[in-house]
Amino acid sequence: MRFVVFAVEGRTGLSIETDAGELRGFFKQDSEFPGELMDLLRQGRESLAGAARVLAAGKPLDRERIRFLPPLSNPQKIVCVGLNYADHTKESPYEQPKYPTLFSRFNSTLIGHGAPIIRPRASEQLDYEGELAVIIGKRGRHIPSERALDHVAGYSIFNDASVRDYQFKSPQWTVGKNFDATGAFGPSFVTADDVSPGASGLRLRTRLNGQVVQDATTADMLFDVVSLVTIISEAMTLEVGDVIVSGTPAGVGFARKPPLWMKNGDVCEVEIEGVGILRNPIADES
Ligand code: MG
Repeated sequence: MRFVVFAVEGRTGLSIETDAGELRGFFKQDSEFPGELMDLLRQGRESLAGAARVLAAGKPLDRERIRFLPPLSNPQKIVCVGLNYADHTKESPYEQPKYPTLFSRFNSTLIGHGAPIIRPRASEQLDYEGELAVIIGKRGRHIPSERALDHVAGYSIFNDASVRDYQFKSPQWTVGKNFDATGAFGPSFVTADDVSPGASGLRLRTRLNGQVVQDATTADMLFDVVSLVTIISEAMTLEVGDVIVSGTPAGVGFARKPPLWMKNGDVCEVEIEGVGILRNPIADES
């Protein structure tokens, strides 16, 4: 099941992508509206399946007319993973760590599919990072590896757009990863049963203005989805709707000679096999 959260002229709604590739759904004001995605996740898999059936009987939506919103706009936690692909670590100034490099993003950075990633006034060094996003569907702490995937509701796509000079101003990456409108997320929430277990072995490609700049597979993650859920939940309770942004492979702009920065008018796409294509234009901060 593939759910899309959308808005039209300020009204928000939830839709499902049918097998024919059509989006059908309801606005929040409609009596048939089955609930917000966050609430459906809290209620569990049966509720998602029930909502999917209701939405499939909803109004057909024109992709050109709707605004795609992030699948979740207010996750309690967005835990990002740095240096999770060996070939990306090699192009970075870092040694490969034995423990995942975890950092956080705030909700305030999130934008949906189609919305512009904003190149801030403060920097020219706006870079792309195509990543698999993991969405938690069941609360847990100290989750053992054999039960880790029971806690994963599904997946989406993330462009962890990074302001590199700010990221590297200090050992903490937080500021460089938290400029407004740099966390592109979507276009849909894809339930875990729609992809391989742990979303392993999916091809991930990033294109900037149509040119492939990252091409890898999620099988190359050093800490796979099971490991990430286990390791993160050792420290903190994973809540329903929490998002783990699982890291990016090689090919980012700052490692290129000359560096490749995203600029006003560019279009960046992240495609993950079986999950979708997240496309965002780049615009200068006004
Ligand atoms: Mg990243």
